[in-house]
Amino acid sequence: MASKFVYFFGNGKAEGRGDQKQLLGGKGAGLAEMTNIGLPVPGGFTITTEACKHYYDNGKQWPASLEKEVRANLSKLEKACRKKLGDANDPLLVSVRSGSAVSMPGMMETVLNLGLNDRSVEGLAKATGNARFAWDSYRRFIQMYSTVVVGLPKDVLEEKLHHLKEKAGAATDADLSPDHWRELCGEFKAFFEAQTGRPFPQDPWAQLEGAVNAVFGSWMADKAVTYRRVERIHGLPGTAVNICQMVFGNMGEDSGTGVCFTRNPSTGENEFYGDLLMNAQGEDVVAGIRTPLQLVDLAKTHPEVYEQLCGVRAMLETHYKDMQDLEFTVERGKLYMLQCRSGKRSPAASFRIAVEQASKPVITKVEAARLVKKKYLSKRYADAASKPIINREAAILRIKPVDIDRLFHPVIDPNYDAKSLSTKQLGIGINAVPGAASGQIVFTAPTAEQWHSEGKKVILVRRETSPEDVGGMHAAEGILTATGGKTSHAAVVARGWGKCCVVGLGAMRIDEKNRTMSLNGHTLSEGDYLTLDGAEGAVYEGELPLVTPQLPEEYHTLMKWCDEIRRLRVRTNADTPYDAENAIRMGAEGIGLCRTEHMFFDTEDRRRAIQEMIVADALETRQAALAKLLPFQRQDFIGIFEAMDGRPVTIRLVDPPLHEFVPHDEAKQRDLAENLGVPYEKIRDRVEQLHETNPMLGHRGCRLCITYPEILDMQVRAIIEAAVEVRRRGVKVAPEIMIPLCIDAKELKILTDRTRLVADEIIEGSAMKLSYLVGTMIETPRAALTADKVAEVSDFFSFGTNDLTQTVMSLSRDDAGRFLPDYVDQNKAAIFKDDPFQTLDLEGVGMLMSMAIEKGRSTKRELKIGICGEHGGDGPSVRFCHAAGMDYVSCSPYRVPIARLAAAQAVIEGGKGAPRTSASVKTRAAAAKSSVRPAKRATTAKATPKPVRSKSMPLAAVNARAKTSAKSKARARAK
Ligand code: PEP
Ligand code: MG
Repeated sequence: MASKFVYFFGNGKAEGRGDQKQLLGGKGAGLAEMTNIGLPVPGGFTITTEACKHYYDNGKQWPASLEKEVRANLSKLEKACRKKLGDANDPLLVSVRSGSAVSMPGMMETVLNLGLNDRSVEGLAKATGNARFAWDSYRRFIQMYSTVVVGLPKDVLEEKLHHLKEKAGAATDADLSPDHWRELCGEFKAFFEAQTGRPFPQDPWAQLEGAVNAVFGSWMADKAVTYRRVERIHGLPGTAVNICQMVFGNMGEDSGTGVCFTRNPSTGENEFYGDLLMNAQGEDVVAGIRTPLQLVDLAKTHPEVYEQLCGVRAMLETHYKDMQDLEFTVERGKLYMLQCRSGKRSPAASFRIAVEQASKPVITKVEAARLVKKKYLSKRYADAASKPIINREAAILRIKPVDIDRLFHPVIDPNYDAKSLSTKQLGIGINAVPGAASGQIVFTAPTAEQWHSEGKKVILVRRETSPEDVGGMHAAEGILTATGGKTSHAAVVARGWGKCCVVGLGAMRIDEKNRTMSLNGHTLSEGDYLTLDGAEGAVYEGELPLVTPQLPEEYHTLMKWCDEIRRLRVRTNADTPYDAENAIRMGAEGIGLCRTEHMFFDTEDRRRAIQEMIVADALETRQAALAKLLPFQRQDFIGIFEAMDGRPVTIRLVDPPLHEFVPHDEAKQRDLAENLGVPYEKIRDRVEQLHETNPMLGHRGCRLCITYPEILDMQVRAIIEAAVEVRRRGVKVAPEIMIPLCIDAKELKILTDRTRLVADEIIEGSAMKLSYLVGTMIETPRAALTADKVAEVSDFFSFGTNDLTQTVMSLSRDDAGRFLPDYVDQNKAAIFKDDPFQTLDLEGVGMLMSMAIEKGRSTKRELKIGICGEHGGDGPSVRFCHAAGMDYVSCSPYRVPIARLAAAQAVIEGGKGAPRTSASVKTRAAAAKSSVRPAKRATTAKATPKPVRSKSMPLAAVNARAKTSAKSKARARAK
């Protein structure tokens, strides 16, 4: 059977249904549903999104049967309305509107008053007894058709209207006479003919065909394509076309048109909220020419229409179980519903509406009874509207990660004029960290710190950032880089602080010497103002107004509901006590990743100590430098353990290649040489020696500790001594030492054995009982493939999916930002649906993770498994982690609530997920405080504590010593 491309609605019955959004678009599905539930909807028909798809798949040709179907449905509509399109006496007029499955407000086209021509305009004037209305409608149609269908310039026609008003001495449109409008129609038609070489189309069918093609065409217009890209709307076939009988809100003072929401979309308050204009058409409301009335005014002037609308409001919100955005027209006192869809709302309103719909009625029983009595609401809907319309699960599913993101970060004032905003936009990069920031441009980290100390707000603009820039990055309001993707250094560090960050703005050129940046033809200098929108990746010239949303009470209620449901625990990636405390406020149940190297750059002393350690060429000098670092690290860990108050804290040993810690330019190298009292050449040669072509696959991660085990000794010492100290102060501690980037079980065994030796000796010397875990990150394909063996020497796994994505996909996380956008852009290569550094690539990386989990648990059934790559704060990736049976996810503090939400949504959406390890039996309340698992390994002080070993042992000796003791302990642990 040939496909059906057209669905009719009218006379109280529709062929389509509300759940057919994919086929009929949101508007078409809404019109069908409203018709079917008995609301007053003008008749019409919807051409499906499949027809639009066919149009594009076949060189912009309609499907063969479409013309016949449209003609048949047009006849049906003419019969239902008892009017004919283009009729010389009482013509039917139609609107032709776009509408895809996902609302794209203002992105696609509409044509109104179609069917008017030189003959039917006279008929309309006669039938309505209103020549002014008829000729105004005709000029609106010519104007819309000329600009939307044919693409003639809007401003020329606007200018002609303006000119006519001036000539007639008319202050507003209402002061123009029918003859004025007739004259303007003549001018518009003449302009049309002059521009196109053909007269304005008089044949209604030709008009309709043109308008349908224009709506199809608007699906691929630049603005619509950009909107879909930015909003990550993928996989839609096209737009539907809704052809609907026109009803008129401009037929006098008993007519009007309006837009309303069933609740306040800004605050979420349960109030009927909206604007309307009497004696006007929809476009007048949108154009904002006249000040609209509030709905409460309608209650005074037209109480019956208002009451009827109240019935519609209660009915539609109850029917759709969500806040609705409604468009309506009143024609000579009769109400018509033109559109209903889920209403867009502020993030705060999202929480309030979801929580209130799940806990309070839509309307009071008294109001319901009043509306029933007036026959504006059926008994069935009145009963349903007098109770909560959704349950808690539905409320949780309603919230999107962006609702949370936008609650915690400043945004560009939503009231800021959209037109001015678009003229100020200089470019779009990769939206690494949400929030908005404005400040003065600086190009170096020291300048950022300097200006910040002078009380200035700065935006740090760099080609890319490195650990050396951390001070300046922290001082800046926002960070902008020309290269890098969502897991680049800038993105990862900024995300930890919740600081606005845009990366990978490839079009930007930075001239550091002259302190300028140029972008799309604009050149800005140091000190000029710039505004970043990290949620969109947009960069704006100047200082735009920002607002910080208020956290609504309902946020806490909803997050509590999430915590009661979810199975996955949520930890945070935090490197400082401040971040840790912040993360606890956001609901973190532990630290899943503390990147110790971030601590090396906090102060000049620390920077110097690590640099001294790196340039040391003998064990003794290296140990001397490490001894300087030890107190710093210990102090930091004390702070973190105290802040976490017994929650698990996973501390990773040093990870990045050493060259990242030393300066690369001559001046800084000379400075370092002077400070360390060594010749400049020595520094220069050491930096050269450290140089790697491919540092991400080079001397980094646990390979550093294989070469320099004394680094491990110092870090483990700092961790365990800090834990002992905090324990001594009466605070519980649960340290988990994590070894990064392992590739082999033997490699890991060498390091875990050494870790345990150092740790146990300190614990024994402390005369205290202290449990700790030693585990590894799974960041390389080989570690994943040999996970059964790796699990033999590891208490836990934490997937480092930033590196794992990089290594599995062979995509450099720092360079992929240059080309990955094309891979993700659905209008370019469209190879991936999402950026794999942001959302786990389930087919590849996810597959390997599942295999590693299975293998790891085949060795140790109770193996604790988590994730600490950026994916730990991404909704779809968290769902995968839940389904794969992981124990926890870990993410930056500001993403903790997103992970809590996604973990709850994963449970509701069905996948209970693979059973968790024994810890899952704990109650949620207990888990929040004591998510420390039963000690896998406890070292109890002996009666006579041994002195703490102060020197690092040679590796061979450690191996020999470890062989017997650790082997038997490891076996015991595995049981
Ligand atoms: C990872 O690779 O996923 C990870 C968390 O480590 P980093 O980003 O520090 O390399
Ligand atoms: Mg890593």
